[in-house]
Amino acid sequence: MSVPLPTLADVRAARQTITSTAIHTPLVLSELSPDRDTPLWLKLECLQPTGSFKIRGATNAIANLSADEKRRGVICCSTGNHGRAVAHAARETGISATICLSKLVPQTKVEAIEGLGANVLRVGNTSDDAQLEVDRLVRVEGMVELPPFDHADVIAGQGTIALELLEDKPDLESLLIPMSGGGLISGIAIAAKALKPDIRLVGLSMDRGAAMAESIAAGHIVDVDEVASLADALGGGIPKDNRYTFAACRELVDEVVLVTESEIYEGMRALFHRERLVAEGAAAVGHAAIIAGKVDIEGPAAIVISGRNVDTRRFADIAAGQPVQLGDLRVDAEYPCGP
Ligand SMILES: *Cc1c(COP(=O)(O)O)cnc(C)c1O
Repeated sequence: MSVPLPTLADVRAARQTITSTAIHTPLVLSELSPDRDTPLWLKLECLQPTGSFKIRGATNAIANLSADEKRRGVICCSTGNHGRAVAHAARETGISATICLSKLVPQTKVEAIEGLGANVLRVGNTSDDAQLEVDRLVRVEGMVELPPFDHADVIAGQGTIALELLEDKPDLESLLIPMSGGGLISGIAIAAKALKPDIRLVGLSMDRGAAMAESIAAGHIVDVDEVASLADALGGGIPKDNRYTFAACRELVDEVVLVTESEIYEGMRALFHRERLVAEGAAAVGHAAIIAGKVDIEGPAAIVISGRNVDTRRFADIAAGQPVQLGDLRVDAEYPCGP
């Protein structure tokens, strides 16, 4: 079931709505820029309050609730960052928030959400399990669901990134964007292609359990197995009743690139050692793909560095070139002594 997508006008309206909460993030030159005529820019969404771009969509969605919906309180399932953003926006607005998290969500993200005063429920092994609890509480308690990606106001909020990108650097030709449920890339694609129809949109995901990437390839929404990943924020399935993001991604994403866990590991290390940025795995897929030679940069390009909420201990291991265990998979540094 697909319905009309949000428009550039919706994204512009979202920008007005979120302006006092989300910041216009800096766009800085990457050390990985191929040469002076081909700048690669980094859009530092990791500097947002709550540590990820999700503050944009969550703030816009909560601002657009009716008085009755606000009274009922909001609920969502999340791999962590959406939940944190919803908890933050709910607290600012003075409404109650319930966040359902599976056991794949890193403890650092769980604690941050609890610290914002939200009601946190740990349910099940995967995002799909957490979603079942959301469905139940919506039915039984009448809470209002704010899904992490498939919601018009969430998509319009994330799309405000494109307005900033093209204002700051109108000559951008390619945008490299981490992709999970596709709210981020849909919003950016809607606004960017309305302003600049031939801009190229590249969606990046991990190669295990990438729901949107596999669904685009299959031509319909498919189930994926959610497994532990360095890019934990990119995990989770796409509910079959998807209204917006599958249609938007099919139509607007020009290229999908998948990276392995060891490539994400090297991407995180490069972000730290070369760019001096602390970023979570989901935000390192652009660096992962470039270092692995999986994506070509031919003109001015930008990568959205989508979040920074990585567990400190894990981050320290990766920065130091120590192996990391993800379920059954051990990820080793390619160059243990560091770059
Ligand atoms: C949510 C998230 C993404 C993916 O966004 P989607 O809208 O689900 O595609 C990427 N990076 C980070 C850090 C996130 O929190």
